[in-house]
Amino acid sequence: MARIVQKFGGTSVADLDRIRNAAGRVKRAVDAGDQVAVVVSAMSGETNRLVDLVRAASPLHDAREYDAVVASGEQVTAGLMAIILQEMGVQARSFLGWQIPLHTDGLHGRARIMDVEGGLLMERLEQGQVAVIAGFQGVSPENRITTLGRGGSDTTAVALAAAIKADRCEIYTDVDGVYTTDPRIVPKARKINRITYEEMLELASQGAKVLQTRSVEMAMNHNVPVMVLSSFEDKPGTLVAHEEVGENADMENEVVTGIAYDKNEAKITLVNVADQPGIAASIFGPLSEAEINVDMIVQNVSPDGETTNMTFTVTEADFDRAVAMLEGRKDELQYQQILADRNVVKISVVGVGMRSHAGVAQRMFSALAERSVNIQVISTSEIKVSVLISEDYLELALRALHTAYGLDATESLEA
Ligand code: ADP
Ligand code: ASP
Ligand code: MG
Repeated sequence: MARIVQKFGGTSVADLDRIRNAAGRVKRAVDAGDQVAVVVSAMSGETNRLVDLVRAASPLHDAREYDAVVASGEQVTAGLMAIILQEMGVQARSFLGWQIPLHTDGLHGRARIMDVEGGLLMERLEQGQVAVIAGFQGVSPENRITTLGRGGSDTTAVALAAAIKADRCEIYTDVDGVYTTDPRIVPKARKINRITYEEMLELASQGAKVLQTRSVEMAMNHNVPVMVLSSFEDKPGTLVAHEEVGENADMENEVVTGIAYDKNEAKITLVNVADQPGIAASIFGPLSEAEINVDMIVQNVSPDGETTNMTFTVTEADFDRAVAMLEGRKDELQYQQILADRNVVKISVVGVGMRSHAGVAQRMFSALAERSVNIQVISTSEIKVSVLISEDYLELALRALHTAYGLDATESLEA
């Protein structure tokens, strides 16, 4: 007997038949004697529809009301899941964020979880009930509904698992695990049986949307084992956990574990800014004060010793604000012009093996050079190398890199 959290994503609850299928999995666990808390997403496409409605109502809408609208998709699926479970003879009750309660800060649209009260849920579970929780939502210190950022139901699930001291958190989705890269773009992508929190965190934060970044962070901090599984097929899935040490350690330890991409980047270049001390601070200081996150940065060498070009990336969502802000400060920064490019993608190779192996970045650069893909910006960290390229070459580059690092399924040991 175990206590588990089962989370079903949008495609897994897309209509009543799929909710029935998901409920069948819940029932199986209950029949096996497990205590089960279920977290549901909105039906697939529903959150996008709600976001569009809000934007159409007013482009400069109140963020608190955005959350009131956008959180509603999960209320529907939580209620439907509870009804269908009851119909199957399983005792079930739905809960919204405020009923748990799941406390967040007041940053509407991307609130952070502060505290989850597990008492009520644990009581219900011990009485043999299934608790069905609406994902993606919480309640702010002002007692208003908040949402956790897109993909946030994963984080609800892990936070609940930590709060109710669950043995594991199962994430059911439309792929049967975490792959070496997005299997929808690279057909030769290979399923990873076990991945460390650290690598999963890096892959998620570099764009692999199979798990929301914060959910991985939370799982790592609270030692929650996470299984990523298909809701449609009975297959083993991927375990996200701490690194295995000792005799059981994984032998296939590749230098590169996976490759992620992020289309949500936009590039800004300030042409001919003064090459003098303090220039970076005067560009990036105000951006950070306006809560605009700058990701990759490159400052070109200055041919004349007086001016230089500064190139950096921000998210698509912050792009307009960033450009407007820089245009407003043209006199102060004294650049010649702003070049902007939204048609870029960041590709990142990730692996803990990079700590002990040289040449990982070089292999990336040559694989891209062989295909004449131009690298616009590079950034590295201890277990990751990222490049920014034109979005037109996303598929070509991803497949080439996947092959170059020996990740293709046909080359795997299991094949
Ligand atoms: P859900 O609605 O269940 O939360 P998501 O759409 O958020 O599902 O995440 C699953 C999707 O993540 C997959 O359909 C896949 O296209 C994408 N994905 C991106 N990178 C990876 C990866 N490395 N492994 C598996 N899936 C990935
Ligand atoms: N429904 C929300 C979204 O689409 C949360 C989630 O599915 O995880 O972003
Ligand atoms: Mg998701």
